[in-house]
Order: sequence, then structure tokens, then C-alpha cells
Amino acid sequence: MSNQSAAASLRKAATSVFLPEDEGYEEANTTWSLGLGLRPAAVVYPESADELGAVVRTAADEGLRVTPLGTGHNSFPFADLDDTVVVRTSRLGQFSIDAEKRRARVGAGTHWAPVVEVAGGMGLAGMHGTAGDVSIAGYHVGGGLSWVGRRHGLASSQVTAAELVLPDGSLVRVDADHEPDLFWAVRGGGGNLGIVTALEFGLLDQPDVYGGFLAWDLTRAPEVLTRWLEWSATAPDDVTTIYHHFRFPPAPEVPEPFRGRKLALISGVALADGARAERILAPLRELKPELDTFGGLPSTAVSRIIPQPDGPLPVAGASGLFDALDASAVDKLMAVVGADVPSSLGMELRQLGGALGRPDPDGGALNYLDGQYMLFGVGPVFDPAHRPGVQAQADQLLDSLSEYSRGRKYLSFDLQDSDPSRGYDAAAYERLVALRRRVDPNGVLRTNHEIR
Ligand SMILES: Cc1cc2nc3c(=O)[nH]c(=O)nc-3n(C[C@H](O)[C@H](O)[C@H](O)COP(=O)(O)OP(=O)(O)OC[C@H]3O[C@@H](n4cnc5c(N)ncnc54)[C@H](O)[C@@H]3O)c2cc1C
Repeated sequence: MSNQSAAASLRKAATSVFLPEDEGYEEANTTWSLGLGLRPAAVVYPESADELGAVVRTAADEGLRVTPLGTGHNSFPFADLDDTVVVRTSRLGQFSIDAEKRRARVGAGTHWAPVVEVAGGMGLAGMHGTAGDVSIAGYHVGGGLSWVGRRHGLASSQVTAAELVLPDGSLVRVDADHEPDLFWAVRGGGGNLGIVTALEFGLLDQPDVYGGFLAWDLTRAPEVLTRWLEWSATAPDDVTTIYHHFRFPPAPEVPEPFRGRKLALISGVALADGARAERILAPLRELKPELDTFGGLPSTAVSRIIPQPDGPLPVAGASGLFDALDASAVDKLMAVVGADVPSSLGMELRQLGGALGRPDPDGGALNYLDGQYMLFGVGPVFDPAHRPGVQAQADQLLDSLSEYSRGRKYLSFDLQDSDPSRGYDAAAYERLVALRRRVDPNGVLRTNHEIR
């Protein structure tokens, strides 16, 4: 940081401050999103909400901006962070669960995995997604697309209260009766109006879960995808599935039976007892998968259903929401990611609809997803020079379905610096912009999808 007084003020505001010239900066600046070359003006690890408030006040006084990061799962949209103080929330990681009230209270840095374990031991379950290592705060401010979403809607609708540091450094608790506008905005509005220090949300009674995946060689993808599209269009809300293309490298760290394989895979969770779940899944099993792991599961195992690598990976990708897809969409997708195409790109098509597609009148800024499917194309970038090429392939995948798109996005999966209005209804976006002008007129807060 060139300004000595800003550096000194920040060091006074918090105990763990890392400037680019400090030993420890590189480690402090390492996030899940590798290989982006981002060099924030400072990285701070606040130990309390008060310390976080002091950091925000100091940064604003010094003309710097502030961005909160949980894990850094989605730092991809940032072009640079040169004028920005990154606030890492990992030291705000404590949580508690009130089993009687079926409610969790989590610090901003808490990941899903430990909460799922402890809640599971109490007969309760959270509405987490496919990764246990994302921050619960980051997941909820994005909306929260879970394994039970088609039955219960977006996870952020379960949030009952949040504690925030506002752009002026003050602390506020928001719920349905206190600062209702901010309470609305924090549920899906992407952290644009305040940094969450703690979140409270409802838990579900642990359901009967039948989950797992079915896998075929990628050469069977056209047939499998066609069947899944037909099936997913009428499947009951009790089941939420994802269709994937995986291209596993022949590396020793990739376990058998995946090493070196190209697979079409359908993962999913049915909230049903075994007999009913088997009836629901029968049309997919008719295609005789090579691997079939579906079965009764404890709800604590759900976040580990997909055979995806843990931990940080340098990637590039693109995603969008799409309306109903037909057989010609299958051909279009196969032309970009079919078995015979030389590509490193993986693909996910998430089944939406059900409660995810019905606006929740009591929900927040994002209270439904406007599409039948979410497409996500993503590929590894082991050499920064390959980033534009992988990005171009992912963009091509999205473009291949342009006739089924109305330009809508689920921003939590958007790795690009897209127009954030694409993530919301026009009225919700207008309300977010007006709130942002009121609460953060100087644009102190910076997020990966900034409401402007
Ligand atoms: C492998 C993988 C699987 C995923 N699966 C799912 C899934 O199934 N469903 C789903 O909905 N999403 C999923 N995601 C997306 C993930 O939920 C989002 O990227 C989420 O934002 C991650 O939060 P984070 O804090 O860990 O990440 P970060 O990159 O640290 O944060 C992302 C953004 O969240 C906001 N944010 C983070 N912390 C705070 C805070 N304390 N206060 C205010 N704003 C904050 C900021 O705007 C920040 O820019 C997945 C991502 C990956 C990489």
C-alpha cells in the first residue's frame, strides 16, 4: 500500500493485517479461486464484528474499498483488487444450534460441513448445496441452491436474522421487524449492502433421503441426456438432480473407477423412502448405468454425493439459466462437450423448477430462479496462458443454447463480471439499486457481482 498513513490506520483497526510487503501476505491472500493474480491493497482477518466494523470505517476514511471473502470460491469476476481491502471471515467461524427451535446461528466464516455434521447428530438438516466447503454466509447472500431446493425453494428463505457491518462501519441486526429492507436485501442480494458477521436460519427435520449417482461412459451421453430432459420435465418436486459431464484426468490422485474416464453422470437426492424413490428413478435406471450408487443415505452424507475433487482448483467457466430444453438442445450441447470433442470442459445442468421456480412472497431479493435448468460449463486452467481458451469454450457452450435463454443468471454460479441485473427481476433489481444508493452512496463495499 503506497499510503503509509492508511497502512498504519489499518494496523491499528485490526490485529491481523497483511500488506503486500508483509511476510504472510501470500498465504493470507490464497483463496479457493487460484491463478487469478489478484493483489488486494491489504488482507485483513478480523476476530470480531467490532474489529470488522473498525476495518470498514478505516478503509472508507482512507479512500479504499472493502470486499468480504469467505472461502474465495467465487473471486473470478474481479479484474483487480488493487484499491480494495479484502476481509477474510474465517476467524468468525463459531456456530451454535438450538435443537428445540430448529435454528442455527453461524459466524460469517462458518462452512457448511461442520454444521451439517452437528445438525445431523440432532436429527436436523440444513439446506446446503453440493459443496460442504463454501461459507454459509456467502451461499445465503447468493440465494442458496440446495439438494432439496425443488421441494423447499431457495435456502435464503430460511434465514430469520442477520448481523451486518454497514458501509459506514456500524453494526446492525436485521430481521423481519428490524430494518426489513436490509433483511430483504441480504437474502439473495449478494452482500452489496453490508458484510454479514452472523446469520441465523431455520433447519429442517432430518428427512428420509435416497441419494447418489448413476454413471455411463460419455459416448452414451446423447441418449442419457435426452432421457433425463424428458424425465426431469415431469419429475416430482421431491427429487432434485444434476446431469454432469466429467472428464477425469489419468492422474494417480484420481481414484478408481474415475481415473482417466469420460463419464455422463446423474446425481441427485430424492426426499422419499426407498420404494417410492426407486419408482421415481426407474426411467433413468432403465438405461443400465455402469455405476449406480443411489440408496438410502444419512442426510449428513448428501454434500459428498458428487465425485468431484475437494479443494481449490484453477478454473474458468460460464453459466446461465435456460427454459425447457428439447432434443435439438442435446445436439447443440454435444457439439461442444460430446465424447468425441477434444475439450477439457466439464458440464453441469441443474434441474430447477418445483419450489425453486415459485416466487416466495416472504423471501428476499432473490426469491425464485427463473428457468427450468441452470447450465454451468467449467474447465481446469493449469497454465494462465490457457485461461482465454478455456473461457472461450465455456462461453461457446452457453451460446450453443442461446435460443432457450432469456439472459437470466444465478449469480452465485457466474464466474464472469456480468451485468448483475441479469440475476434479478426488474423490480427487485431496482429496489436493490435504490437501497445501495442510500446505504452505500460512496461505493465502499465491493462484491463479485456489484449492484451499481
Ligand atoms: C465446487 C462448488 C460447488 C458449489 N455448489 C453450489 C451449490 O450447490 N449451490 C449454490 O447455491 N452455490 C454453490 N456454489 C457457489 C457458492 O455458493 C458461491 O460461490 C458462494 O458465494 C460461496 O461463498 P463463499 O463465501 O465461500 O465464497 P466467496 O468467493 O468468498 O464469496 C463470494 C461472494 O459472496 C459474498 N460474501 C461472502 N461472504 C460474505 C459476507 N460475510 N457478507 C456479505 N457477503 C459475503 C461476497 O459478495 C463475495 O464476493 C458452489 C461453488 C463451488 C466452487
